[in-house]
Amino acid sequence: MAELIDGKKISMDVKMAVKEEVSSLKERGVSACLAVVIVGNDPASRVYVNNKKKACELVGIESREYALAEETTEEELLGLVQKLNADPAVNGILVQLPLPKQIDEHKVIERIAPMKDVDAFHAANVGKIMIGDYDFLPCTPAGCMELLHSTGIDVCGKNAVVIGRSNIVGKPMAMLLLHENATVTICHSRTKNLKEICRNADILVAAVGRAKFVTEDMVKEGAVVIDVGMNRLENGKLCGDVDFDAVAPRCSYITPVPGGVGPMTIATLMKNTLTAAKIQNHTAE
Ligand code: NAP
Repeated sequence: MAELIDGKKISMDVKMAVKEEVSSLKERGVSACLAVVIVGNDPASRVYVNNKKKACELVGIESREYALAEETTEEELLGLVQKLNADPAVNGILVQLPLPKQIDEHKVIERIAPMKDVDAFHAANVGKIMIGDYDFLPCTPAGCMELLHSTGIDVCGKNAVVIGRSNIVGKPMAMLLLHENATVTICHSRTKNLKEICRNADILVAAVGRAKFVTEDMVKEGAVVIDVGMNRLENGKLCGDVDFDAVAPRCSYITPVPGGVGPMTIATLMKNTLTAAKIQNHTAE
């Protein structure tokens, strides 16, 4: 049976380390502040935003919420982002996605000042990640890497398979694995022989968005499985992309959902906001 990778505990360790640094920054007269922008009434977005605010409270980062109406125009949102870019008291800007259909997400992301882009979605930050010279790492893939590191397994030379090629999870995840010298395969909806490819993975990352998509016959004996999926079942329960009960007995390590990748995403956001505050106040080592 696999060993569980405890995202709750590991994320708490990260947050405690951030808290310590935030408090020592405060002693030097520097405070960290995250602006969180939410547009509309999506209940899942509201939960994520509340969780991010709670994490800020825990680590001592000031959080400012900007809750805008569903019918907000693109221009209004771009105006707010511009204002936050110019506000020296704000170190990080997070615009909760998805945005209502009248707003072009890409335009909004590109309007955020790269030095305040704590999600690391701006093209300038994505480019820096590609060349391996970055200030911020995207929160979910960086959280996955930290979970992998917690197992003590050396990523170097391993066959890693990432299912999913989104800009926010799949692609940067593959890049981070590559930076650590894994041999990486990215799979997507047009991939042929998905099962065979996955069965060859020493490290399998599922970022598909379909409940229990990864079945037992797709997993190599002894593989490490990282489940990024967060799918809401009809009974209201949260479920990953991996059929946990069937897959776990085959793995060496596996992340649960909930309590795996999700908490790490938020912990990394705290880390990135701290980094942004340090850079903007010239206190980074
Ligand atoms: P996304 O943008 O919808 O991307 C899903 C990816 O899965 C796409 O690349 C798609 O391929 C691929 N895919 C879909 N059906 C497939 C199939 N039958 N075979 C192989 N690949 C298939 O989703 P995302 O934003 O990356 O998120 C993925 C999951 O992670 C979701 O459940 C989301 O809720 C969760 N998530 C969790 C966190 C967290 O903090 N835990 C953060 C972000 C996302 P194509 O590109 O070909 O369409």
